[in-house]
Amino acid sequence: MNTLHLSDSPADLAVAARLLREGEPVAIPTETVYGLAADARNEQAVAKIFAAKGRPQDNPLIVHIGAWEQLRPLVKGIPPQAEKLAEAFWPGPLTMIFKRSEIIPSGVSGGLDTLAVRFPAHPVAQALINQSGCPLAAPSANLSGSPSPTTAAATAADMDGRIAAIVDGGDCQVGVESTVVSLVGQEPVLLRPGYVTAEQIAAVCGSCHIDEAVTSQLKAGQVAASPGMKYKHYAPKARVVLLDGPAAAITDYINAHAEAGVFGLVFDGEEKGLTVPYLTYGARSDEEAQAHAVFEALREADRRGAKILYTACPRTDGLGLAVYNRLLRAAAFEVIKLV
Ligand code: AMP
Ligand code: MG
Repeated sequence: MNTLHLSDSPADLAVAARLLREGEPVAIPTETVYGLAADARNEQAVAKIFAAKGRPQDNPLIVHIGAWEQLRPLVKGIPPQAEKLAEAFWPGPLTMIFKRSEIIPSGVSGGLDTLAVRFPAHPVAQALINQSGCPLAAPSANLSGSPSPTTAAATAADMDGRIAAIVDGGDCQVGVESTVVSLVGQEPVLLRPGYVTAEQIAAVCGSCHIDEAVTSQLKAGQVAASPGMKYKHYAPKARVVLLDGPAAAITDYINAHAEAGVFGLVFDGEEKGLTVPYLTYGARSDEEAQAHAVFEALREADRRGAKILYTACPRTDGLGLAVYNRLLRAAAFEVIKLV
């Protein structure tokens, strides 16, 4: 398939909106990462998303809306906490989970009776939802398992030849996928950390429980509240190993393990003294910069032929938790504690 490379000009957006209406998947920019979008009400269109990504059928998709009023028909009931969270964070990088209505085929939700919905802030995403007239099911636009794409070039590297079109809207501002919070039970449950933090959700709702799958590996036979969490994810071809400790200890550890193919992925300003090739992904105290840079750094490590990527471990609170959660999966939970 010849993939169209579209800009965000009005004429190109009209082409993308038409493709979406016709049931073709189109990769689109959002403020979090690039999404692979298709009409959420159209089973064949949604099947093409799963096929293009190689995504397991039981891994549910997020449905994107372009205005608050578009939520009601998609779900069975809107709890008061959802209204408060929408007031605080929509449009923006927060996904909420509701009971699913019949308008959305169960395949979108991987067979679950719930539905994840987000109202993205990106003007191109909003324009495409509203011009196509479709609620858009859109997972990240990467091949299943690899790091999410935060640029049109990274999207093309995974999706060229597999989908109808890619809309280039520049770099994604946030850089990690949306926060996913379930509002199906009494208390909000954080299923995936993102730019909107658990602390911010608790400030609005009174509390926010963090699902244990956010920071630990599921045990054999345990059912994942968020099916996406059970897969190896976000991983480059290189083996990622997280190093948790101060800069000097990380430098010493990496240098002691120097060999062909070993790369460092460290914080800005902490690269001094490394004897192996390295990349950086933001300053230690700047979680926004880390979130923005982390996926592109993993992809760049692959482009440079890294075999092992020793990676400085981020903090585990606030926005750091989102970066940590992605790197922990990229590392298949391999963390070395250094002092
Ligand atoms: P992605 O589309 O790549 O951003 O991944 C979507 C994430 O949202 C995955 O981790 C899914 O498991 C999660 N998700 C989507 N829908 C649901 C749902 N109905 N219940 C629980 N988790 C969901
Ligand atoms: Mg994804």
